[in-house]
Amino acid sequence: MKLPERFEQEMKELLREDYPAYRDSLSVPPGHGLRVNENRISTEDFLMLWEKSGGAPLLPVPWIHNGFFVPEEASLSGHPFYHAGLYYLQDPSAMTPAEVLPVEAGDYVLDLCAAPGGKATELCAKLRGTGLLYANDISASRAKALKKNLELFGAQQAFVTAEEPERLAEHFPEFFDKVLIDAPCSGEGMFRVQPKMMQYWEENGPEAYAPVQKELLESAAKLLRPGGLLLYSTCTFSVLEDEAQIDGFLQRHPEFSFEPAAAYEGFSSLPDRYGLRTDPRSEIRIYPHRMRGEGQFLALLRKAGEHVPYPPRPVLPWSRKEEQYLLPEGHLPVPGIHYLMTGLFLGTKKKERMEYAQSCAMTRTKENWPVCLDLPLSDARVLKYLRQETLALTEEEAERLSAAPSGRPSGKKEKAPDVLVMTEGFPLGFARRSGLILKNRRNPAWRILS
Ligand code: SAM
Repeated sequence: MKLPERFEQEMKELLREDYPAYRDSLSVPPGHGLRVNENRISTEDFLMLWEKSGGAPLLPVPWIHNGFFVPEEASLSGHPFYHAGLYYLQDPSAMTPAEVLPVEAGDYVLDLCAAPGGKATELCAKLRGTGLLYANDISASRAKALKKNLELFGAQQAFVTAEEPERLAEHFPEFFDKVLIDAPCSGEGMFRVQPKMMQYWEENGPEAYAPVQKELLESAAKLLRPGGLLLYSTCTFSVLEDEAQIDGFLQRHPEFSFEPAAAYEGFSSLPDRYGLRTDPRSEIRIYPHRMRGEGQFLALLRKAGEHVPYPPRPVLPWSRKEEQYLLPEGHLPVPGIHYLMTGLFLGTKKKERMEYAQSCAMTRTKENWPVCLDLPLSDARVLKYLRQETLALTEEEAERLSAAPSGRPSGKKEKAPDVLVMTEGFPLGFARRSGLILKNRRNPAWRILS
């Protein structure tokens, strides 16, 4: 791998005697990771289920409580458990920011640069169905993938927006308890997995990203509540985009200070010779020669002031024309903001019945849905269902499904509710029964091709 010359010089200066080890690490195959959605299943139960179903061996990522290394060839994005939202696939280093940012039940959390949702899905899971998550990305097209990933994870308290951070700051001054900035950056830490990043780096190096990172930090300062926590992360080694960016921010904002983060063996910090105000307890570097992951930087800061938690507020049923939603914390969408997701979209009210949506299916369980068909993973109909095919039922299954309580007040002339298709107790989507046939109602845009 031929590195850009200036980058190589800077890394030699940064790492000195460690540079050969870094250089060698670029020829080592990267580690691949899986992170369990603990809002759906505990890590312990997931491991038992995974083993029982003959899954590829998983080795813990030592610094991520619900993260595991997976063999590359395992191709886990086609696995039905992925489509049931049991896990997210992510580079182990990239799991670190959402692990390090402490999220408490009831928090109002903002992920400012969230697409496609690697960190937002974990922040949402950490909320365990409480509080509020705003997941924003300036790119509306990238925010679509973010919405899908949050829906897959069964998010009930998420809002997805595609906005300029300054616009959010105008509408939500000092509103959020926790803010994550996973900033766009020159991507020096990703050269091993995405060699094309080197070409982008030659075209747009650290100097091109530093101004937008500064703006993001300025907006975040306005959006954060007194006493709130700000986590800034990049996947680059550039001091300009990392510690110097934080140093400049702290100089402009004396109301912010370093907040100690959890320490793990292998985390690194910037050498003192750079002469910046840094703090090894709060600013973490991850290098591929010291840990099994790609390059990453993160800094945890606290805004001064007393932090008073929001009192919990009830979910608000809300409708927009025929569309029905549940709004967490009774939080109404704000006019003028570009939303792609507003709480939990339940479905569309039609004349004869409610057409429940995929987002609703992903939040349902056997306990809160009247008619479920739970297929073992080994049943060939699981993959057929994910491929958007119609399923055939046995006589016995059809009988059982038609005997299930409808969940409707008696005497009402409504159609039978859709069947929730599940695997191993986890939701995949809805289907509509007609005799011995189940018509597929899973979101067609989620159809798997293999
Ligand atoms: N956090 C994401 C994850 O874990 O999946 C990855 C985020 S990626 C490093 C940076 C994101 O910042 C990109 O999706 C990009 O569209 C977005 N972005 C770039 N400039 C932005 C801005 N000014 N405001 C908000 N988002 C921005």
